[in-house]
Amino acid sequence: MHTDNTSSLPNNIDELLKFYQKSRETLSYSEDEIKAIWYAYSFARESHGDQKRLSGEPYITHPMQVSKTLIDLGMDAETVIASLLHDVVEDTNISLDEIQEKFGQLISQMVDGVTTLKQYESPGSNDAESIKKLFLAIINDARVIVIKLADRLHNLKTIFPLPRDRQIKTARETLEIYAPIAERLGIWSLKGELEDLAFKCLEPEIYQQILYDLEKSRDEHRAILQNLIETITKKMVQSNMDPKNFVVLGRRKYIYSIYRKMLTPKYQGKGVDSVYDKLGIRIIVPSIPDCYAVLGLIHAEWSPLPGEFDDYIGMKLPSGYQSLHTSVKYGPDKNDIVEFQIRTFDMHNEAEFGVAAHWIYKEKTHGKRDIAMENKIKWLRLMLDEPQSEDDAESFLTLLKQDVLQERIYVFTPQGDIIDLPAGATPIDFAYAIHTSVGDRCRGAKINGKLVSLDHKLQTGDQVQILTAKQGGPSRDWLNPSLGLVNTQRARSKIRNWFKKQAREQNLAQGKSILEKELSRLGMEEVPLDRLLTRFDYKTTDDLYVGIGCGDVSLQRVVNMLSELYTNNEDPLLMPISPAERQDDTNAVSILGLKGMLTSFSSCCSPAPGDEIVGYITRGRGVTIHRSDCPNILRLQESERERMIKVAWGEPQKTYPVSIVIRAYDRQGLIGDISAVLRDENVNILDVNIKPSHNIATIQLTLEVSDIGKLSVILTRLETLPNVIEAHRIKPG
Ligand code: MN
Repeated sequence: MHTDNTSSLPNNIDELLKFYQKSRETLSYSEDEIKAIWYAYSFARESHGDQKRLSGEPYITHPMQVSKTLIDLGMDAETVIASLLHDVVEDTNISLDEIQEKFGQLISQMVDGVTTLKQYESPGSNDAESIKKLFLAIINDARVIVIKLADRLHNLKTIFPLPRDRQIKTARETLEIYAPIAERLGIWSLKGELEDLAFKCLEPEIYQQILYDLEKSRDEHRAILQNLIETITKKMVQSNMDPKNFVVLGRRKYIYSIYRKMLTPKYQGKGVDSVYDKLGIRIIVPSIPDCYAVLGLIHAEWSPLPGEFDDYIGMKLPSGYQSLHTSVKYGPDKNDIVEFQIRTFDMHNEAEFGVAAHWIYKEKTHGKRDIAMENKIKWLRLMLDEPQSEDDAESFLTLLKQDVLQERIYVFTPQGDIIDLPAGATPIDFAYAIHTSVGDRCRGAKINGKLVSLDHKLQTGDQVQILTAKQGGPSRDWLNPSLGLVNTQRARSKIRNWFKKQAREQNLAQGKSILEKELSRLGMEEVPLDRLLTRFDYKTTDDLYVGIGCGDVSLQRVVNMLSELYTNNEDPLLMPISPAERQDDTNAVSILGLKGMLTSFSSCCSPAPGDEIVGYITRGRGVTIHRSDCPNILRLQESERERMIKVAWGEPQKTYPVSIVIRAYDRQGLIGDISAVLRDENVNILDVNIKPSHNIATIQLTLEVSDIGKLSVILTRLETLPNVIEAHRIKPG
């Protein structure tokens, strides 16, 4: 709507339908439903009165646009009505009771679902609380999320009058939470658009650059697509498929998905042209046998790219997504690549609309749930059923971001059931995803029949078998983040719960012995613990021990806190580290005057820390880092030289020599394993001294270590090596 006066707002049903670009004939709502939609519009318009959006448009234009998106998606009349009313309770004097009275219970529930969230959206409020409320509302009625996504879509389209910080917050939240939710609920048509709008807001220059690159070759692409479509259509007709029964569509990928692909190692520093499958063709056919028949035709005509064929019909994804994907080579020199997606009309509906497909007006469900839809929100229900710790909303948000909205992997149980886990999940995470008691008793795992260690990272397609003990519980090591044994919040909270259920005395004794052992290992026996208590909100040292024993407080946190709290000049590892000196990545490149820019290392000269380097501002890919003697840099034209900027390696972290001793039953390869751990932790060895006696080797090492926390990680990892009895620090002085 581009109106700045109310006179151009629809004043009767036909004008409203014209705004929706639908006539009564093309709109599949009943006459009564159309009347109800008109009534909701009139009521919302009157309630919002002369409220304006920041753009100066009448407020009602916002709910109108939201409802239009939902009508285009084909959502049922109730959803459309609720969307027209979605801001009424929040922004006007109308109460929820009034909505219920006028529009009924279902509609008022949906409006409430969107409203509850809204009141938290003001700056400085609790976002986590708001998101949790949203999820509760979705469980109650999944249509709420579709309204919310359509609302977010229009807000992003009209984001520019907002102050920059609000824009950034909204765009980030969209990429972090709403788009992944749309993805997991299978609403791809909204996901792609939400991502592109948010990305355009956050990185306008990169967005424009990719768009420009795409536009440049638009005519060329269109001709190629046309040609491919004609070829495959002809083949399909030749094999007796009726062109009236299938659809072949050319499509171009979303800008944000191209950008994401450009950031992966394979394409880094190569530009848009290298992201080959930006062209895609989608073929929609009546039946599953047709899908495989078409796949055969494609592979007979063009040669498939190895490793790029995915059968999501044979293996249906938990989101409900089904299709065949294949990428093939075409063109005179077989250098160009196009991706085909083949699916049935039902699969297409599911893929485009996901959870929303279940309320498309054609299948009147009247708010009743079907099994397919239940399956789509099962993960949501599971997550909300988790025992929530005291601080709830925050930990809920962490759980959501870490476990649910991450990139997924799909693995199999020995029975062939698919388990859906975040990327990086281990056998222990898998065991807890099966059942708490399987997790608690997990002692080993086989992947595709082979024994693996418990820190093994699962991959999509793995068949995982958990070896369990008859009884017993988890190990406290599982909670140690430096061992990487557990990578989901869900498993972590179950493990903590197990320890919490143990008797207090037992936790106290365990916690005490763990902490004492750690302190003696680090040569810190004399450190007084009382100052730690307030930091962790404990009254007595015993409470602290119990906290450690049951896993509420990790040893790592206690150790890090100690190094922050105590200054001990005799022990340089205990000197406080000022935050400015802390650096996560010693290889980080700091760019003078351009903090936070997207940087990547060029592949032509592969700069390594210590090399003299320069930065080059690319068109659309941020800054690439080259060695200053890189031939590509030396060859730059004068006009290009202004794109060069000064960059420097981050300051290397300060380190101190520390002596440790390792005792182990001697075995072959022990020294090699030890140095592998140290190399992995990026620690230099200054001195080695090995004393074998009988079967036991005593290995004394002098290492360069930055702080006590790092030392603790190293000692823990060394102690988990086979045959190692203990590893501890030789006390300074
Ligand atoms: Mn709104």
